[in-house]
Amino acid sequence: MTQRSPRPKRKGYIRALLLILFVWGLISGIRSLLHSPYFEKKPPTIHLPQEIYWNLKSPLKIPIEDASGLKSLEVHLSDGSKELEISPKHFHPGIKNYTLDLTFPKLGLNKEVGLLKLTLKATDKSHWNFFTGNSAKRQAIIHIDEKKPELFPLISSYGIRKGGAALAIFKAKDENLKDLYIQTNFGKRFKPVPFHKKGYYAVLVAWPMTQKHFFAKIVATDKAGNESVSRLSFFLKNKKYRTSTIEAKDRFINGKISDLAEDRPKQTANLTPAQKLDFVNATYRKENNSVIRKITSKVDQNLLNDFKLDPFYPLKNAKVVASFGDHRFYKYHGKIISEAYHLGLDLASTRQADILSSNKGVVVFANYNGIYGNNLIIYHGLGLYSLYGHCSTLLVQEGDIVRPWQVVAKSGATGLALGDHLHFSILIQGIFVRPAEWMDSKWMQTNITDVIENAKKMIDRTR
Ligand SMILES: [Zn+2]
Repeated sequence: MTQRSPRPKRKGYIRALLLILFVWGLISGIRSLLHSPYFEKKPPTIHLPQEIYWNLKSPLKIPIEDASGLKSLEVHLSDGSKELEISPKHFHPGIKNYTLDLTFPKLGLNKEVGLLKLTLKATDKSHWNFFTGNSAKRQAIIHIDEKKPELFPLISSYGIRKGGAALAIFKAKDENLKDLYIQTNFGKRFKPVPFHKKGYYAVLVAWPMTQKHFFAKIVATDKAGNESVSRLSFFLKNKKYRTSTIEAKDRFINGKISDLAEDRPKQTANLTPAQKLDFVNATYRKENNSVIRKITSKVDQNLLNDFKLDPFYPLKNAKVVASFGDHRFYKYHGKIISEAYHLGLDLASTRQADILSSNKGVVVFANYNGIYGNNLIIYHGLGLYSLYGHCSTLLVQEGDIVRPWQVVAKSGATGLALGDHLHFSILIQGIFVRPAEWMDSKWMQTNITDVIENAKKMIDRTR
């Protein structure tokens, strides 16, 4: 008898093992290949909004991206009756990012229809989908708008004084109006308010007292990028503001200044008396002013028909104890250590005197605000705000509607004040202006009320 050798049995066993290993290797190989960039399944991303406004002047820029790389791009543009294929693109070896610069074809399409349909199909160079790649298709409606916004000034205050205000009324019309503002030479943009009838606007502008020059132009832009600019012309009146030097006494630094420095203990703990004064007078003042600027920069967008204000007269039988715009330098032991502009009018009468609102408005701030002490701010519309500082008591709260000549607070000496008085400011869209103009019935009649009445007559005449 021949003995069976065990060898063939072992051979079969090894062969089976090798086969399993081979199949397992093949499967994981295919799996990793399918998971590799060569077989990725993500279609390209086309950054195309559903609606586009186009002035046909600058090319439309449409970014497209794909992780594995773009292979081709098809672009179709239709005017409703005709469709054009715009030079198809093939990318070799393929790019991950591409920006299509679409210009309006010189021939073939009718732009007068005003509407176009844009279709984009992008395909990547992945081997997925039986080597055809992943495709993405996006469509957009294009509104053709080559018309600039219609813009012209109607009427305005005759002049503007340095540190003061002026009113302008103008027309701005566009089917696709996007942005409308007054650009100034000092960076500030004033927002206009809709006025009287559709397409008309009113705006109060201000010339900050710290700015040497004043220049303002209306800027209107539409969704298609068309822009119109029109200059607002005012007769410019210069005004000189006072400069004064104040001797800082130790009593003042150890008193009011130290009390206010206590509001910011970490920043003032190790300061010398002179540094402490400068911190309160400059740094802290800036912080308090920025609170005020932020609140008073807002403009409502309700339709404005009337803007009849009484001249402001916040404190009865008051004496002016400091005027608007004073440039104050503080001297300590013979050296100038700090400076600041006084951006309000100081009025004094008796202690804890009634402070009157003068006009109707909404209380937008009623709180403690550093050097302003107990501080009240009232909004009167058209971007105009009145501010009351150093109050002993506030009698209204944020959100309250105040009546004309309502008692809203009591005068005091809170904040950076020596003796009971009212610090009264007027602000236009975050800019402090001369309160004197808004306390002068003649100035208000000529520059505000008459301008509004005449503008309404002009608008009602044109149909
Ligand atoms: Zn003051």
